[in-house]
Amino acid sequence: MPNEQRRNETESGMPLHTKIFIGLLVGIVSGLAANALGSTQKGAIGDVNANGLTDWLDTVIYWAEPVGKIFLRLMFMVVVPMVFSALALAVVEIGDLRKLGRMGLKTLGFTAILSSCAVLIGIGLVDFMQPGRSLGDEQRQNLLDKYATGATDKVNKAKEAKPVRDTIVDLFPENPLQEMVGAVDGSSKGNGMLAVMVFALVCGMAITTNPTETRTFVGWLEGLYAISMSVIEFAMKLAPYGAGCLVFALAAQLGFDILKTLFWFVITALLGLSLQLFLVYSIVVMVFARMSPWKFFSNVSEAMMVAFGTSSSSATLPTAMKVASDELKLPSRVSNFVLTVGATGNQNGTALYEGVVVLFLAQVMGVDLTASQQFTVVLMAILAGVGTAGVPGGSLPLIVVVMQSVGVPGAAIGIIMGVDRILDMCRTVVNVTGDLAIAVCVAKSEPVDILIAAESSNDPVSLSEST
Ligand code: ASP
Repeated sequence: MPNEQRRNETESGMPLHTKIFIGLLVGIVSGLAANALGSTQKGAIGDVNANGLTDWLDTVIYWAEPVGKIFLRLMFMVVVPMVFSALALAVVEIGDLRKLGRMGLKTLGFTAILSSCAVLIGIGLVDFMQPGRSLGDEQRQNLLDKYATGATDKVNKAKEAKPVRDTIVDLFPENPLQEMVGAVDGSSKGNGMLAVMVFALVCGMAITTNPTETRTFVGWLEGLYAISMSVIEFAMKLAPYGAGCLVFALAAQLGFDILKTLFWFVITALLGLSLQLFLVYSIVVMVFARMSPWKFFSNVSEAMMVAFGTSSSSATLPTAMKVASDELKLPSRVSNFVLTVGATGNQNGTALYEGVVVLFLAQVMGVDLTASQQFTVVLMAILAGVGTAGVPGGSLPLIVVVMQSVGVPGAAIGIIMGVDRILDMCRTVVNVTGDLAIAVCVAKSEPVDILIAAESSNDPVSLSEST
């Protein structure tokens, strides 16, 4: 059974996402009930303490939080090894793919353009809609007290404007090991995780120049990546309880206000994902493949549905390949190549979501991001989209990294954990559809005679059928 499928099913046979959903529901309902009974504003039952909560509610929150924290820390602990190995391996793969020539470069070009569009849409929408500002000052202070250990320092550090020039220079780390140490807790001298990402890219490029002598190191990177994935898989098993406890603690402390704020966050994220899906992809397939968007979407609907159900680009890969050859009638030489690379390398929905989450949580925590910090978020979200594994919740560790790098406390990700699963399903649809859109465009741009010659004689697909 493939990893992704295992990840979606628990021993009891109940799909993991159903378990997570139940965990969240229990967490929200019991948290709101506890808030109604134990908070001062609602006429609390029991003695009220300095936090405005009754002692019994404080105790319940005190014991519920560690479960959520352990769940989050399991993911935090593999952030650096995962990012480093995933990005370096991605470059090694692309280095090989470049030998495939034009098609590799075109795929890379479309990936860069679509990811940049996605992140800009996401960030633009959060700036415009300001979903994180709907929280009252008192609630914001509560959150800061709760999540920000030493946060004031980090927030102040984040507020120090760093000129764009220095941000660019700091992309190249003087001491990568120092940046790795400081990447997760935000204490690095330079750009933290972004510098680690650049180091990974440089290592990847160096490997491609000397593939024979670096073979052992590539094997080591593959092992590191596999270990990170296993830890994340293990963390996801804890997700129903971890996410449930995080949501409980949040709802018990902040009541309905946090739900209102989260509502606007969900609307912003969904609006951004819809714009990328229906507007950007429609324009792209119309302009570059001269295909009607209606035809494109009706042909790929099966893959979209599987992506929604599994929350995993990798698990959807076989369906996407089937759709590409049976419905879109793309030559398998093109679609296999583009879809395989895209399942992990092209994640537009994830890149958009990462930008939205980081800016939203910065607003919630009262961190004003300067222009150069927003630039950092854009760059990191694009790179993180490349480094994200195509599995449920694959982007969560990377979101933490981007948050830390601009001074937003990583633990604040707990605020969105409750709604992450449903948005994961939606962003995976955008990821998979983006891969298919690129496949259609690349296929259309390849000379038909070369394609037909490259196809085996039993698969004489004509591109004109697809338009
Ligand atoms: N679930 C996403 C995918 O597989 C990755 C993520 O955004 O967490 O495409």
